[in-house]
Amino acid sequence: MLDSKIPGGTLDSKWTKYKGNVKLVNPANKRKLEVIIVGTGLAGSSAAASLGEMGYKVKAFCFQDSPRRAHSIAAQGGINAAKNYQNDGDSVYRLFYDTIKGGDYRAREANVHRLAEVSTNIIDQCVAQGVPFAREYGGLLSNRSFGGTQVQRTFYAAGQTGQQLLIGAYQALERQVALGTVSMYARHEMVELVIIDGKARGIIARNLVTGELERHFAHAVLLCTGGYGNVFYLSTNAMGSNVTAAWKAHKQGAYFANPCFTQIHPTCIPVSGDHQSKLTLMSESLRNDGRIWVPAKQGDDRPANEIPEEEKDYYLERRYPAFGNLVPRDVASRAAKERCDAGYGVGSSKQAVYLDYAAAIQRYGKAEVSKRNLGNVAPDVITALGKEVVKEKYGNLFDMYAKITGENPYEVPMRIYPAVHYTMGGLWVDYELKTTIDGLYALGEANFSEHGANRLGASALMQGLADGYFVIPYTLGNYLADDIRTQSISTDHPAFVEAEQKAADRINTLMSIKGKQTVESFHKRLGKIIWDKCGMARNAEGLKQAIKEVQALKAEFWSDVRIPGEINGMNPELDKAGRVADFIELGELMCLDALERNESCGGHFREEFQTPDGEALRDDENYMYVAAWENKGDKWELHKEVLNYEIVKPSQRSYK
Ligand SMILES: Cc1cc2nc3c(=O)[nH]c(=O)nc-3n(C[C@H](O)[C@H](O)[C@H](O)COP(=O)(O)OP(=O)(O)OC[C@H]3O[C@@H](n4cnc5c(N)ncnc54)[C@H](O)[C@@H]3O)c2cc1C
Repeated sequence: MLDSKIPGGTLDSKWTKYKGNVKLVNPANKRKLEVIIVGTGLAGSSAAASLGEMGYKVKAFCFQDSPRRAHSIAAQGGINAAKNYQNDGDSVYRLFYDTIKGGDYRAREANVHRLAEVSTNIIDQCVAQGVPFAREYGGLLSNRSFGGTQVQRTFYAAGQTGQQLLIGAYQALERQVALGTVSMYARHEMVELVIIDGKARGIIARNLVTGELERHFAHAVLLCTGGYGNVFYLSTNAMGSNVTAAWKAHKQGAYFANPCFTQIHPTCIPVSGDHQSKLTLMSESLRNDGRIWVPAKQGDDRPANEIPEEEKDYYLERRYPAFGNLVPRDVASRAAKERCDAGYGVGSSKQAVYLDYAAAIQRYGKAEVSKRNLGNVAPDVITALGKEVVKEKYGNLFDMYAKITGENPYEVPMRIYPAVHYTMGGLWVDYELKTTIDGLYALGEANFSEHGANRLGASALMQGLADGYFVIPYTLGNYLADDIRTQSISTDHPAFVEAEQKAADRINTLMSIKGKQTVESFHKRLGKIIWDKCGMARNAEGLKQAIKEVQALKAEFWSDVRIPGEINGMNPELDKAGRVADFIELGELMCLDALERNESCGGHFREEFQTPDGEALRDDENYMYVAAWENKGDKWELHKEVLNYEIVKPSQRSYK
């Protein structure tokens, strides 16, 4: 039976009560306790900095050459917090409510409320670190809107919010490295989890430069290893993002929750051909000012600027007048797909819609004329002033678009299409962020917790930093307080020897296959299966077929993959082979999960379950639970965490 360990009391008192009653570890004991943190993105860096500062002996691992290169650095648009600086009606409750509703009522209320509560602390902490959030003229921090909300609560640093936040967390981490509380292991990949007497007690890490396997002990292990969007091959994720650490834990007993809940982001640069291995996000912040449209006439081939205003269909504004272009991502993505499938798509592939800044440029230009008291000016002056404002707000994103497509988005509308972006699923964790393995925790995108079936924009950075700065410092102490008498366990312990042997055997097997097909080709084929049959739309028939195809792909991979190079030394192909092997197994579980959930909710759109106007149709009576899968060798067993909504009343989500 899954126990999510939600504390008693009213929703808004649970976290305060928990903190007041949690067990503590005294400073002298903290110095004796060792903690491994795998991952140094926003979740891992913030956790390592916080736990180091508290006095624990921390070892932090990442596979990049520097913690600063974690995927978090790519985050563009912003981070949410219920500060209500705009005085537009925001509150902790509203952020909580928007997140629960945005997630289509498939998230745990208590966790989401805690997240909304600590959101305000995050901004204070980051400002204190010197994170250069955008400011208003008067000096207050500026906010913008993201999808699924009617308030402005998103804090940002131009289009580089993740980078600035990560530099803040990295500084805090490096301070601890200098003080000696954190030891940093860059270019190390966790390849096995070590469990002793039912408790996570360490990891086997592969030194990616020398190829050597290393044993590392800790009293507790934190996985902050990010999401698994790259299972689709093409995604907006960093190329190195993978599921390996979480998958190893899963195979040793950590349940994997809601694996089929993946997020397809509506505003990405469309796929341009077969040669591509990466997709680029155009931040959701662009939907603040940009208007999305397609030609009102099917198959209209005229260039965008030649289509008159009355022949444009602003389909989001038409279908969802209350939220317009700022509907949540799942809704916006499906609406784009619907228009393209119906023959209204644009560009050479016809798999794109327009994101247009013409109106915003005029609006901002006129406001500047008025602000500067310029009186009657020529139209091109208004346009030039408007472009300046847009450049100030979104310049780096516009530049990126221009570089990739060769088109000038200040002059012609951008072409965008949905792409894989984020994974709501992940390791199942309880209220304390602990997995089903004692002593093993999962933070940030690696866990399944707060976003239900669809994450709202700017909420991932909030969750990662909430987990690392504000939640784990309490919850980990509650566990370690009972472990103060446990001495460091020697890495000669049989469990370490066995785990290392397992990792070595797998690497040897991979290298000995010496087949004909590249790792990349398998990854690409896997991605196509998952995208076609477990992507933006799924159905039972397709999912059953996908499971068979993935199983066949797995067999082919293990008999015909070709990995050049050596084991001992740097071998990125070997690194990737291990990751793709895990993605293949995960792919099967994703399809199984999607097949088992006979309803549509958030990003999980089963074609058989939709409302007459094409919206996701939930089945709360039968599926209001978190699906937590236990690995049983080649099979899985489903466990259900039933979701009880005490405060919010689930209803058909409407953004109309
Ligand atoms: C282009 C883009 C833009 C985004 N913009 C926003 C935004 O504006 N706002 C928002 O809220 N969210 C945004 N997101 C989502 C957000 O960036 C991520 O969800 C978040 O940064 C994840 O942080 P994390 O710390 O959980 O993981 P990551 O940043 O992915 O870090 C994972 C870490 O784990 C390490 N790791 C993984 N596996 C292993 C292993 N086996 N061994 C050792 N180390 C390992 C990696 O080295 C890395 O250090 C965006 C995402 C993308 C792709």
